[in-house]
Amino acid sequence: MVRLFVALSPPPKALAEVAEAVEPHRGGWPDLRWVAPELWHVTMAFLGEVGEETLPRLATRLARAAGRYPPMTLSFGAGGAFSSPSRAQVVWLGLRGGGAELSRLAASLAAGARRAGAAQTSDKPFRPHLTLARARPRGGVDARPLVEALAAFDGTPWRAEEVHLVRSHLGASVRYEVLAAWPLTGHG
Ligand code: ATP
Ligand code: MG
Repeated sequence: MVRLFVALSPPPKALAEVAEAVEPHRGGWPDLRWVAPELWHVTMAFLGEVGEETLPRLATRLARAAGRYPPMTLSFGAGGAFSSPSRAQVVWLGLRGGGAELSRLAASLAAGARRAGAAQTSDKPFRPHLTLARARPRGGVDARPLVEALAAFDGTPWRAEEVHLVRSHLGASVRYEVLAAWPLTGHG
């Protein structure tokens, strides 16, 4: 079995802006585990554990789903937290500009994965975000000052032109491996 998700990989310039905004806060939150910038991504669909025999079918379905959507202009926006800033499990930056089209792409990728027999279905509505940090305590963290400090963030727009199928290698240090990339062509 392999642990998979589908993601957008924002360009280094967009991520460098985020890194600059986050840097001053890193030291001040002992109850948060910050995600290393080289791991930053926008999850479009979480597929969970998938049998390797499913990969060829999965690739076909995901390529087809991606091909139905055109490239999108996105930007990182205000910070937020799941489930709320006062009980944060995950602190993130929002994604602007994708609108309904980005949600439809996420739904199409999930549907394609499901048809390939891959998806651990998640009923949660798609909330596009960039995870910055996760709480160490199970009950979450009061991250209101951090979320407020990131409220004004407004990054330079970037183009999302492809989606990546990514394998998670979990363990003492998480590693992501890009298995495939499919363009958003809008021609599918
Ligand atoms: P770790 O779990 O060790 O913190 P991780 O969360 O980065 O590492 P994965 O758990 O493999 O690695 O998750 C990969 C991506 O999918 C991350 O962006 C994660 O937030 C997202 N993800 C994980 N589980 C789910 C889920 N049940 N529903 C939606 N997205 C998920
Ligand atoms: Mg996880």
